[in-house]
Amino acid sequence: MWHHGPVDGPGLEHKLYAAVDRLGNAVRAARRRFATAHGLSLLQLQVVELLGHEADPRARVGTLAAELGVSSPTLSDAVASLEAKGLLRRSPDPDDGRASILTLTPEGRHVAADADAALGPILDAARAVAPARRGAALEAILEMIASLYRAGLISVDESCLTCDHYEAGPAGPSCALLGIALRPENLRVRCPDHVPVSA
Ligand code: SF4
Repeated sequence: MWHHGPVDGPGLEHKLYAAVDRLGNAVRAARRRFATAHGLSLLQLQVVELLGHEADPRARVGTLAAELGVSSPTLSDAVASLEAKGLLRRSPDPDDGRASILTLTPEGRHVAADADAALGPILDAARAVAPARRGAALEAILEMIASLYRAGLISVDESCLTCDHYEAGPAGPSCALLGIALRPENLRVRCPDHVPVSA
């Protein structure tokens, strides 16, 4: 029998790796189906999705490239294609004469909403996890992401576990900035107040 990813090894850590790999493949396959059906590359779709979810409306090529783990020239090519398709527009960045602010057009927002709907089964799968166990699952996955970030394999992590405001006190971790207890279910994945922990 063929295996297309890591095989369960003797330890739980191998099973966790294999499980995350299966999950990643499922998400990637769902994205690829949607992208193909809409004449987009996978990267173009990811740009549309990110801009559709972006709380900060001042997205730039450099920040998106870092978030998606690609070079700025590669991201620029994807942006140019999306612009040509009428899904995205560039406007001058008032803070940096050499940079552009990227925003979705109404048609681009429409595609982003359709992508959310198409990827709905992934969210449904997360909902299928019993509420009492979701926090622990979130914490375990964020710990893996933080390790990869520290190892330099992920260039952007805006979660609590790599934030300078994260404090591990005797009563449990908390956020020094917001003054809230960081129980597993409170951990943030993409926090607008995140400050990378100093080395
Ligand atoms: S600022 Fe945000 S990311 Fe940082 S510890 Fe507080 S809640 Fe978490």
